[in-house]
Amino acid sequence: MPHLTGFPRAELAEIFSELGEPPYRADQLFRGLHGRRQQSFDEITDLPKALREHLSEMATASVLKVESKYVSRDGTRRFLMKTHDGFPVETVYIPTENRDTICFSSQSGCPLKCDFCLTAKLGLLRNLTIGEIVEQIIIVLNDVYGVGGETPHGTNLVAMGAGEPFLNFENLIRAIEMISHKDGLFIVYSRITVSTAGIVPKIYEFAKLERRPNLAISLSAPTDEMRNILMPINKRWKIDDLMQAAKAFEKTLKRGERFTFEYVLLGGVNDGVEQARALARLLAKYDLGRVKINLIPHNPAEQLDYHPPTPEQVAAFKNELESLGVSAYVRTPRGRDIYAACGQLAAKAGTH
Ligand code: SAH
Repeated sequence: MPHLTGFPRAELAEIFSELGEPPYRADQLFRGLHGRRQQSFDEITDLPKALREHLSEMATASVLKVESKYVSRDGTRRFLMKTHDGFPVETVYIPTENRDTICFSSQSGCPLKCDFCLTAKLGLLRNLTIGEIVEQIIIVLNDVYGVGGETPHGTNLVAMGAGEPFLNFENLIRAIEMISHKDGLFIVYSRITVSTAGIVPKIYEFAKLERRPNLAISLSAPTDEMRNILMPINKRWKIDDLMQAAKAFEKTLKRGERFTFEYVLLGGVNDGVEQARALARLLAKYDLGRVKINLIPHNPAEQLDYHPPTPEQVAAFKNELESLGVSAYVRTPRGRDIYAACGQLAAKAGTH
């Protein structure tokens, strides 16, 4: 059955025209599904009852089922959902004092084999549809604010859950377009960040988009030798290819915009001050002046061979970067106790 939450308004209008309904029905439906986040046609009472019944027979307004919800002692919530065909989808709600962040998935599982990431152990299960991407956000917002409840203006979205967003590029971009619509969830582009492990041709394609969210690139090593081991995607596109793409992207930034490199700090592996220096040199070599580095201390898991760096090592790494003129921020891990932190999404049923 078609999942109408994944249909842009123009396509909804076509469906209604085939049903002999006026085009404004598409607006009513879109506002119900996205603006008020209603998940069944029956709740959208500005549509005539007979039409609602007809829609319920031929289509659906919801395809994800929440299997479980885990709440961390820091307030982070992890939603473990299932698609209609049984694949896991995970979404994380991260409250902070002045704003919320929702971290959503672009794929079920992930095909990349980053050595330090638990999601990698799942392999790729499948790409998520446009509707499945959008519905994750709807489900989380409804859990936090209630159906129809106003979304605070500061809500941020990050495509940093399971999967490689740039390997599901088309669906991701179309989903974000829908999410940002003023009659829908209305989370604007500047509040959305997409993270890629470095699918180089897609970085160029992304750079060409007229409207686009923010970009983050997961780097995690300053040399090919080290990155080949940590992130095998580096064998396909070397650091040089990646940095050239990053530079091309940087040139398309508007005034005041920046972009991010993420660097997962692995204790005793890539967290030495010599790596910090190599990283600063790398940015200088490609003349990347509008970047900031997000340092993510490793989130451990039993199946992973890595451990987090000591707080002293994190501070030393950050200070070295800053002394070399590179802005660096340390990300506080959130939801580690419920397997909700970066690199921990592996459809785990329990909390540990
Ligand atoms: N595939 C995309 C989107 C996932 S974002 C990407 O790699 O960018 C998830 C982020 O968490 C990435 O920056 C990744 O490097 C980081 N990460 C993965 N495993 C981690 C772990 N165990 N601890 C901390 N960060 C991790």
